[in-house]
Amino acid sequence: SKRRGKNCIAFFDPAMQQEASRLMQLEEELRAALGRRELVLAYQPIVELSQQRTVAYEALIRWHHPRHGWLAPSEFIPAAEQSGLIVALGYRVLETVCEMLAAAVAEGCERVPVAVNISPQQFRDKRFLQEVERILAQTGAPPGLLELEITETSLMDNLESTAAILDELQRIGLRISIDDFGTGYSSLALLKQLPVDTLKIDRCFVRDLEVDEGDRQIIQAVVAMAAKLHLDVVAEGVESDAQRQWLLAFGCRCGQGYLFGRPQIVERPFSGAVTA
Ligand code: C2E
Ligand code: CA
Ligand code: CA
Ligand code: CA
Repeated sequence: SKRRGKNCIAFFDPAMQQEASRLMQLEEELRAALGRRELVLAYQPIVELSQQRTVAYEALIRWHHPRHGWLAPSEFIPAAEQSGLIVALGYRVLETVCEMLAAAVAEGCERVPVAVNISPQQFRDKRFLQEVERILAQTGAPPGLLELEITETSLMDNLESTAAILDELQRIGLRISIDDFGTGYSSLALLKQLPVDTLKIDRCFVRDLEVDEGDRQIIQAVVAMAAKLHLDVVAEGVESDAQRQWLLAFGCRCGQGYLFGRPQIVERPFSGAVTA
């Protein structure tokens, strides 16, 4: 009955209810934002640690909310994941990057690969491969310039289907990075089975590198393992030159972090057409 329904509501914690309605509102706004131009991309360089030359960019989403101003992913990705909107959002990001890549190539810009984050939900989406192929075909972006960043935990979820999907992505010519490496539980044997190009060492191992011997050991072990498996390594969250020096000494080839450049909201991360 109605009365019972009312009584039930009284059992809810008002704070919880507030949080739930906040998430619902954010979800509604995000749905609307997807239809307008409020979601934009910031690009952060990935550099060679020795020369500090840019070898790739990572695309990172930003939301210019009509009332709250600029929002970081941590402020809306949870709502996007909870509502499933993260899948549509992910394809939108992929489309935007591929359009940018195609235009840059057409104008004779430098050919620098761009990495896009794939959420676990998107990676498990039944139409994932189909959508990636559709977006590549529609935009005409060169697959070789597109890199997909997939988290370690997401890859471990269902190994058999993961291997099949990665094989197909590799066949198309995309590059694959394992994001946030070291925070999950993948084994060496497993990595050997997957057609992966790059390991991105999570920022949590880089942050205290200068004072934490344990973190240094972990990074050295990952770099040594990657070398044996012929994988590239990118250290995330490099903020100081001392960290850069340690990483170089460990044989880590590439890095990403505020030391080299913050994510920048730009139409296109590359310098203009190669002229003269
Ligand atoms: P991530 O993929 O690990 O991205 C790297 C994050 O580290 C970015 O945060 C970047 O701004 C930040 N970062 C880079 N260098 C430094 C540094 O030197 N110091 C510190 N403290 N931080 C640094 P951001 O842009 O806030 O993104 C956070 C997370 O949100 C990303 O972590 C990624 O998991 C997710 N994300 C961002 N864009 C997308 C997207 O388009 N799709 C999906 N599915 N997830 C995204
Ligand atoms: Ca990433
Ligand atoms: Ca990462
Ligand atoms: Ca991370």
